[in-house]
Amino acid sequence: MPKYSDQIIDEVRQTNDIVDIISQYVHLKRSGRNFFGLCPFHNEKSPSFSVSPDKQIFHCFGCGVGGNVFTFLTKIEGISFVEAVQTLAERSNIQLPTLDNHQDLQKEKLKEKVFKVNEFTAQFYHENLYKPESKIAQGYIKKRKLTNETLKSFRLGFSGKFDELYKALKKEGFEDLEILESGLVNKNNNGKYIDRYRNRLMFPICDERGRVIAFGGRVLDDSKPKYINSPENIVYSKGRNLFGLNVAKKGNTKKMLIVEGYMDVISLHQRGITNVVAPLRNSSNSKSGLAS
Ligand SMILES: [Zn+2]
Repeated sequence: MPKYSDQIIDEVRQTNDIVDIISQYVHLKRSGRNFFGLCPFHNEKSPSFSVSPDKQIFHCFGCGVGGNVFTFLTKIEGISFVEAVQTLAERSNIQLPTLDNHQDLQKEKLKEKVFKVNEFTAQFYHENLYKPESKIAQGYIKKRKLTNETLKSFRLGFSGKFDELYKALKKEGFEDLEILESGLVNKNNNGKYIDRYRNRLMFPICDERGRVIAFGGRVLDDSKPKYINSPENIVYSKGRNLFGLNVAKKGNTKKMLIVEGYMDVISLHQRGITNVVAPLRNSSNSKSGLAS
């Protein structure tokens, strides 16, 4: 069911005094802190229907009905909660978001957060690469003769153990929903959060604007699969992006060379051939090009 935010519902409630609203239907008389009248929801001769301006609620001691200003309106007018919110918002001149826009807005907010999760992660992995614990990754880099400049240009990184990234993201203040949406962390059947990428050489995948949208991760031993990639998500769609495009765009882009793997892009780039990109693929054991 479409829903308005709690914040806007509160605002509508606070700008519609319950005594004002109920007075339009029931003749109320003050008695002490509260107002009393004849209950509109059951037949009675002496007033047992009370309204509290302090608490902004009503209650009938005769039939037990009660609630806030929205409850009253839904019952007396026979309308839905959403309609009650809309009626009262109009009365107090509050502009409600249209429900569609509201959902769009939520989606946009989540997208922004996922970009931030990705950006934080790229930096986290990149810094990891230089730590003493990352010898296995440093060994591979040495073997492939990658320069520090190359590591920086492509922001290569190293993913850590079990839930290191998850913990770091939580410490940074990200919420589980945002973290899971990024695809960087999975929740297992026991409810534990586990990093998707562990002990892998990490390749951040960026959109044209240079925003990190996904990652590829290569094993550094013989385990399988050799490469895994982020699942498609709110910010990432495989078909629409190319690995290395954000880096290639800085140079001559009249002609683009398409190669098979991430490492092909990176080694060619290091040899001065900078107009190179690679398509993004599914995770696989890969005879198909992500090898090397
Ligand atoms: Zn009643």
